[in-house]
Amino acid sequence: MTTHEQFAEDLALYALGTLEGEAAVALDLHLEECAACRQELARLQGDMALLALTTSGPAPPQRARQRLLKAIGHEPRSLRTVFLRRRWWTLAPVYASLVLAIFAILLWRENARQRDRIEALRADATQNQATFEEAKHLLALLTDPSAMHVTLVAAQSKPQPAAKAIYMPSNGALVFMASNLAPLAPQKTYELWLMPMHGDKPMPAGMFKPDPSGNATVMMPPMSPGVEARTFAVTIEPEGGSATPTMPMVLVGS
Ligand SMILES: [Zn+2]
Repeated sequence: MTTHEQFAEDLALYALGTLEGEAAVALDLHLEECAACRQELARLQGDMALLALTTSGPAPPQRARQRLLKAIGHEPRSLRTVFLRRRWWTLAPVYASLVLAIFAILLWRENARQRDRIEALRADATQNQATFEEAKHLLALLTDPSAMHVTLVAAQSKPQPAAKAIYMPSNGALVFMASNLAPLAPQKTYELWLMPMHGDKPMPAGMFKPDPSGNATVMMPPMSPGVEARTFAVTIEPEGGSATPTMPMVLVGS
């Protein structure tokens, strides 16, 4: 490509939109007649575009910033006279440098935004890893057979009475175990009742008195086979038992 050397430097300034005065007028006139210089100008503008595209880093390139500020500060005022005096393609550098400068700053902003996003993702990942580690430790504790399990109750409260009944309706076999029972008054007994599934008349299922620790058992009391039980209950009755339970119930199956 042949380039007219006397215009080489002017073309670069022209491409940046900073050539002014007589030099600009002379170059305008020359560009109208010279295809080679118009090609060279186009090539310079292409270089600027590449420069803008490869821009990255913590700050917009100083020159791009200066060009933009200069363009914003000075161009609008002179655009009208420039437009009247110059042909359309001689205006291209003004717009090109403005667009490129804006583009470079947009790229820089986008880079900064991406960096922020990556930082946020990295923080999220760290947090997720910490949560996962906590969950793993918790699961290990809960499933480890060597872990110690202790049930705690309010320090001043007395242990509550509790019992378990194991019953086989087909043959009437019944085992009952109770703990933390309150001591009985003289001439009183605890009585176990089977609450039938059909019919609402409770059936006596044995009498018992707790030992000094509050524990008691009823083993295989005489029961009719084939009675479906809804639940079992315990009441306090006069010595010798009752035909029907005396309220209130001390214990009842859930
Ligand atoms: Zn030329």
